[in-house]
Amino acid sequence: MARDLRPKCKLCRRAGMKLFLKGVRCLTEKCAVAKRPTPPGMQRRQRSKPSYYALQLREKQKAKNIYGLLERQFRRFFEIAHKSEGATGQILVQQLERRLDNIVFRSLFALSRSQARQLVRHGFVFIDNRRVDIPSFLVKKDQVVEFRIDEGVKNLIKENIQISEKEKSVPEWISVDNQNYKITIKRLPTKEDLTIPIQEQLIVELYSK
Ligand code: SF4
Repeated sequence: MARDLRPKCKLCRRAGMKLFLKGVRCLTEKCAVAKRPTPPGMQRRQRSKPSYYALQLREKQKAKNIYGLLERQFRRFFEIAHKSEGATGQILVQQLERRLDNIVFRSLFALSRSQARQLVRHGFVFIDNRRVDIPSFLVKKDQVVEFRIDEGVKNLIKENIQISEKEKSVPEWISVDNQNYKITIKRLPTKEDLTIPIQEQLIVELYSK
């Protein structure tokens, strides 16, 4: 399976903000954005104002990198959103948030989306009593995501929650039962629930050309 092997911190520096791609390191002063907030590569004189196309492209790259998707996967999400009823941008954001790996991450069970993806792929996650090992699975409202894990993984998740709680909280649209390792989707997420804001309209305009 194709994977994005580019250095993660460079992606954040390119976006000019923390995208939280590396887990615990992102919460410390070792974070590359905190240490060196300039874009990667040789520093050239910047054009005074980026073009509108550059803004659209940057926004799309930012969203793609936050959720750890390749261009083809991201484009597929856009196509589905485009064919759905309602505002394309809002549906795109909603679908990205409903991904199973994102839900595990947002529930603080994992320190990064890539760690959440690993937990899903290892087959620890059940939805409505059925094992689901597909990180891109879209979880629906009222579905229950449950972990069936041994002591080792339980300890890892407990540790992750303790670290994450210092900086983040569980979003309102999710309810988490830390004792039983269960997550319930109370309602569908909206743009306002994002922790890193995305200007979805720029992405829609870019793909609609
Ligand atoms: Fe981004 Fe995390 Fe690297 Fe900081 S440590 S630059 S937030 S991936």
